[in-house]
Amino acid sequence: MLDLRRYVRDIPDYPKPGILFRDITPMLATPMLATPDALATATEALAKPFLDAKVDIVAAAEARGFIFAAPLAIRLGAGFVPIRKPGKLPFDMHSFAYELEYGTDELQIHVDGVKPGQRVLIVDDLLATGGTMEACCRLLEKCDAEIVGCSFLIHLVQLGGKERLNPYPVHTVLDYD
Ligand code: IMP
Repeated sequence: MLDLRRYVRDIPDYPKPGILFRDITPMLATPMLATPDALATATEALAKPFLDAKVDIVAAAEARGFIFAAPLAIRLGAGFVPIRKPGKLPFDMHSFAYELEYGTDELQIHVDGVKPGQRVLIVDDLLATGGTMEACCRLLEKCDAEIVGCSFLIHLVQLGGKERLNPYPVHTVLDYD
């Protein structure tokens, strides 16, 4: 398989001193018909354990999660539901406040975004502390969704996010120590 690590760029001291930012934008920039196509390879890797999981909805938090969620939803024959920062959704919503690797934030989902019992896969580009994904899971639980799993392209292993997301099934493609 194509080595996706070649398409992750390390940016030291971004967005704050001491933080090594894993930048996935090079992975998006190969032309769609290039061989091999990094985005298609990433989509396939994110989908792999969930191909037979009867996923109804792929959900993701803005902004980088959206990028991978749309092709993943198409690959799994599922719909897509956005989870957004405050002030962006126009209809009635559930909210959940959470701590990020750097700072705090709040996420929201439309109350009717996911129907009770629908099978949801949540995706993001990167798992650090797990705070963002935990907030997404809480929001989907408020919708009475069934969480099939959480799929990440990048996993910063040292930050304990996987343990925090116990007992949800967590799939990670690229693990970084
Ligand atoms: P967590 O909530 O601490 O797990 O942080 C994960 C969230 O922060 C994800 O939505 C990521 O997009 C973002 N994030 C944190 N660190 C990085 C990074 O190094 N590169 C890209 N995104 C990051």
